[in-house]
This record gives sequence, structure tokens and C-alpha cells, in this order.
Amino acid sequence: AGRMTPDNQGGNVRVVVRVRGFLPREIERGAQCLVQMDPDTEATKLLVPNFTDAANARTQSRKIVEEKKFTFDNSFWSHDADDDHYAHQEDIYNALGEDFLDHNFEGYHTCIFAYGQTGSGKSYTMMGTPTQPGLIPRTCEDLFQRIESSASPNISYTVRVSYFEVYNEHVRDLLGPQPRSSDPHPFYLKIRESPTEGPYIKDLTDLPVKNYHELLRYMRLGDNNRTTASTKMNDTSSRSHAVFTIMLKQIHHDLSTDSTTERLARIRLVDLAGSERAKATEATGARLREGSNINKSLTTLGRVIAALADPKHGRVHNGGKTRSKDVVPYRDSILTWLLKDSLGGNSKTAMIACIAPSDYDETLSTLRYADQAK
Ligand code: ADP
Repeated sequence: AGRMTPDNQGGNVRVVVRVRGFLPREIERGAQCLVQMDPDTEATKLLVPNFTDAANARTQSRKIVEEKKFTFDNSFWSHDADDDHYAHQEDIYNALGEDFLDHNFEGYHTCIFAYGQTGSGKSYTMMGTPTQPGLIPRTCEDLFQRIESSASPNISYTVRVSYFEVYNEHVRDLLGPQPRSSDPHPFYLKIRESPTEGPYIKDLTDLPVKNYHELLRYMRLGDNNRTTASTKMNDTSSRSHAVFTIMLKQIHHDLSTDSTTERLARIRLVDLAGSERAKATEATGARLREGSNINKSLTTLGRVIAALADPKHGRVHNGGKTRSKDVVPYRDSILTWLLKDSLGGNSKTAMIACIAPSDYDETLSTLRYADQAK
């Protein structure tokens, strides 16, 4: 795949990596930090310990025998809060969210994915906490600030929101009526294709929003619905992809001719299923099917993004007609099919690869996935 320059010239795909700090249980067992980041070069190094080495009983540290180096558009160090280069939630928003919102106000779609194993900081990065809000609440706040500060008779805005999850290649509405505990099955929605609009989810709830607080309330409602269903269904939240979508419509009024033009931008913010599920599973039956389906969405997404990031991909002229040189495999999974409008074309896409500091195997697989996407 093509290499991206940090200022994003030459493509509409950005790939960044964020390492989280140690959790209390990791400190307790004296976990070893296997990730290093260089703030000057944006390089990320994964240290390969000698696994056959008996770990030092007190520190659990093993000798480092090799370093694997990766370079992404940004490396966000959130491991040591005392470090000058510590990336706060605000830094992530400033580096990525703002720029993407500019693009939305120019009338284009954007899509930001959080990828990584369960516990690597995906929800923290997207949703955050009440005191440390993540990308979604910051985007919502900035969106309404921009709308309010650009008030004029020539331009008006409407904002709508939807929130759905893709679980096992099925779609569930997170803002619609929820199944009661006595209902035997979750409610799944059907996918349709419109000749003009492309793929869409039939009967998906989308709600008008007047201000930031309302938008945040829907985010929390959807999160709660996701958690409730997930508890009933044996923790599916780490196995589902949650897609939060804000639809921003700008209406330009030409006062002299009394005509209007509209521009629609979709802002997609996606918390992906835990990447550990993408691995071959030894389970059988339903679990196996589920495993391979999740695998399908994540691996297809990787291939779609890799195709989009490749400068060889794109439109070539062929006897006066334009066609895609490489076919982007949107159709191979529900997630990529539904997000087709927000990937490619004039849309901007970002992948945030979230990693834990001391988890060698999962971190290597996440860094490799991110590497093929850039
Ligand atoms: P995931 O969504 O990938 O399963 P979470 O976002 O739930 O992971 O993160 C796991 C834990 O690590 C949570 O307790 C979260 O608050 C914490 N955490 C994750 N990233 C950071 C970070 N950058 N700074 C501080 N705490 C973090």
C-alpha cells in the first residue's frame, strides 16, 4: 500500500497508533512495557522479549532480543502521564477530529475507526469518560459551536443522528425500540440498496438534534442499549462494531434568486469489535460462525482501507469511461458495504490503532493490521 505523508497529501486515509498506560492489574503483576515511541520521527517500536528467558521474579522483565519498527502518520504516547509527549484526549481531537470536521463543513463524508484488542482503549478514545471526553463528544461539541458561530441569513443547518451496531453480520438499531427481556431474539434490521443512494439500513432510527447536549444524550442512550443487550447476550459488545453517525446538512439560501442548495456530510465514528476475535478460533458451531463473521468484517475493512490508501488505486480512463482500476471489496462484509458512502471518493478515513503497552502478540497483530492499511 502507498505510504502516507504526515500532512495527508496524496491520499484520504490516515493511520495513527495510540498506546494506553498500564492498568492497575498490569502494575500489580509488574508488567513490562514493550512499546516505545519517538516523538520526533513518529516511529513506534515493539520490543521483542526473549520469551524463553525466565522472567525476573520481581520485575517480570525479560531481556529484549529484537525491535520491530513501524511508522504511522502519528504515534500517540499515553503511557506515562508525566512524559512531555503524553497524548491527552484533547491532543487526539486536535490532531484528527478538527481536521475531519473541516472536511464535513466543506460537504464531504468522514469516517474514523478505532481498532485494537479488547481493553486497548478503543472506547476510551471514541467515547471517553465524563471527565475525559473522547472523539465523539468533542466532535459533537465543536460541531454545534461552529454552527452557532456561523449563523447567517444565507445559511442554515440541520443535524440528525443514528447509532447502530453490526454484530455477527446483522444490524441492530441502538436508538430504536429495544427488545424486552422476555423477547426471545434481538431485533435485526434489513439492508436495502437504493439506485441513487446505495446501500442503506431499512427503518433505522435517525433523529433530529438541536444542540450538543441532545446529541450527547443519544450517544449515551445508544451506549446503554448496547451494554444492556451485550450483558444479556454474553458480552457481545467486544464482538460488535458500533457505528455512531451524525448527518450534517447545510442549506445555502440564495436571497437574490430565492433558491436553495443543500450539502450533506456524514460523520461516522466507529468503535470496532475487539481484534482478538479476528483470529482463528478453536470453537465450533455458532461460536465458530460468529468468529469467522467478525473476522470477515475486520479483514475486509483492512483490505478496503489498504485499497483506498494505495495511490495506484483510483480512477483510470478507459475509452472515455472512468472505472476503478482495482475493485475495492466493499461488498465482502456488512460493515464495509454499509459504510461504502463514507469510504473512498472525496471522503476522508482514519484508523486509530489502539494498543496495550505489554501485550506482545496482540500488539504485533494490531500494528501489522494498521501497517497494511496505510
Ligand atoms: P476497549 O474499548 O478497547 O475494550 P477501553 O477503552 O475500555 O478498551 O479501555 C480499557 C481500560 O483502559 C479502561 O479502563 C480505560 O479507561 C483505560 N484506558 C484506555 N486508554 C486510556 C488512556 N489513553 N489513558 C488512560 N486510560 C486509558
